[in-house]
Amino acid sequence: MRYPLIQGKDDNGWPKNFRCPVCKVRKVWEPHTFVSIDAGAMLMNRRQRFGSPSKDMDGYFNIGWHGAHDDGEGDFRDTGGHLLIGESVRGGQLCITVCSTGCLRKLFNKWVDDLEKQMKKAVPLTAPKALNKSVQRPRIKSRH
Ligand SMILES: [Zn+2]
Repeated sequence: MRYPLIQGKDDNGWPKNFRCPVCKVRKVWEPHTFVSIDAGAMLMNRRQRFGSPSKDMDGYFNIGWHGAHDDGEGDFRDTGGHLLIGESVRGGQLCITVCSTGCLRKLFNKWVDDLEKQMKKAVPLTAPKALNKSVQRPRIKSRH
């Protein structure tokens, strides 16, 4: 999977070929059944209680981690990183559409796997014990 997944003024994540990006088999979007991750912001007119996307806003969607620093507790001291799911999304709103909760679970597992790969690379070589303890977490099981 390339990162950022969604980027730029011509990409808000809406499906281009109407196939699930995870299984690449089932159709998504209307009129089909689909599951979506919707993120973003609306430029509000507070007086009229109305909001809409705006070309003056760029949206983003990160999944990040932050190691401990100063006198904080935790692993991965003074390191951090993130997966850029969406970056510089013109209008400020983005959408990721998959065919089912099973594919949504696979997508989230992929993101967690990729984040953990990044964390392993960022950990100083002097702290292998912290790496093993923190990265081995139970996986979300797929029902797909
Ligand atoms: Zn699917």
